[in-house]
Amino acid sequence: MTQLPLRAQLASALGRSAATLSRMTGRGDGSVIGGRVGLMLEPDLLRKLARDRKLALVSATNGKTTTTRLITSALLELGEVATNAFGANMPAGHVSALSQHKGAPYGVLEVDEKYLPEVLDTTGAGVVCLMNLSRDQMDRAAEIWLLAQKWRRALSGRPTHVIANCDDPLVTWGASTAAQVTWVAGGQRWKEDSWCCPECGGPLDRKDADWACRECTFHRPEPHWVLDDDAVLDPRGQRWLLDIQLPGLANRSNAVMALAVAETFGLPVDRALPRLREVTSVAGRYTTVQRDGRHARLLLAKNPAGWLEAFDVSDPRQPIILSVNAQGPDGRDTSWLWDVDYRILRGRPVFVTGERRLDLALRLDVADVPFALCESFSEALAMQPPGPVDVIANYTAFQQIRSEFGRAV
Ligand SMILES: [Zn+2]
Repeated sequence: MTQLPLRAQLASALGRSAATLSRMTGRGDGSVIGGRVGLMLEPDLLRKLARDRKLALVSATNGKTTTTRLITSALLELGEVATNAFGANMPAGHVSALSQHKGAPYGVLEVDEKYLPEVLDTTGAGVVCLMNLSRDQMDRAAEIWLLAQKWRRALSGRPTHVIANCDDPLVTWGASTAAQVTWVAGGQRWKEDSWCCPECGGPLDRKDADWACRECTFHRPEPHWVLDDDAVLDPRGQRWLLDIQLPGLANRSNAVMALAVAETFGLPVDRALPRLREVTSVAGRYTTVQRDGRHARLLLAKNPAGWLEAFDVSDPRQPIILSVNAQGPDGRDTSWLWDVDYRILRGRPVFVTGERRLDLALRLDVADVPFALCESFSEALAMQPPGPVDVIANYTAFQQIRSEFGRAV
């Protein structure tokens, strides 16, 4: 690997010191502040740090942190990998991730959907993994369409190899200007944002997994990789049982995307898959926290599509605690609660907490789901019998629970 120019070396080193200071003073893991300091001193730092590495960028509304982790785990089979493991998914986080592993020949970077064009342009990443696009909190359909259009422009005319989920029509449209695309049939649980053809606005006809526009030629491409319940069919038609430890269909879909990305790095399924099976939790998600004989499993749901995935993972035989906040990162408006169908929780003991518990309570009441209202997560947990309980929380509620129980990873 070539040496960084002196100014970039200095910026990178100072950024790392700032990150260490930030960690020591208890201000989080420091990855964002460190990257910001570095970028202030050397605005071109990300480009310089990205040079001479083989990089994959991972973007989606849901599952990008998990998929980034799975791809990283697979590529460790090949050598050192730089990655932003804690979801700091804007350029400052990328600078920090690459600075911390200066000699790593590989990099896997989770990228915020809106930043993908900029980060692709800056890093010149050779591989981009695109999974799903849906409304995040209060985004509107037109906004995610514009986002997909920006992806199209960013990918057009580049040598980038894109791995994209062809079960999501908007992702398919966003990816289809790329020079080379590997299509993955990864499933699509949340369909509410894709009834219209992104190309012409006509209606999309769906039959099983297949979809096509009634009015133009836009249709689902033939997939190279297919998620088939608990197994994957690779491009040669060979079937592999996934058998990963992360729960739920959404994570099996993430795993198939990771296998397809790993193959573009020259890593075959038989070497990548055992690495994916080693991953048990991702940035605190799916971990179990314990108190007084209660085992609470933490599930994160940031938007309506995320709630469906969490319901899929959660065990219907167990009680469930729901916690909703509405601070900055959550979005202050909770009207998205009305987009989620909570009727699936009928028949389970349901406990409601978080700053916006009254909003959630009203929503559940209208859906005829009985619940108990709790002042705090601790109170909700204390009301459980000993044994397992599932917890679904949105972003800051999830972080509060994690910090109360220690930052288990
Ligand atoms: Zn159309």
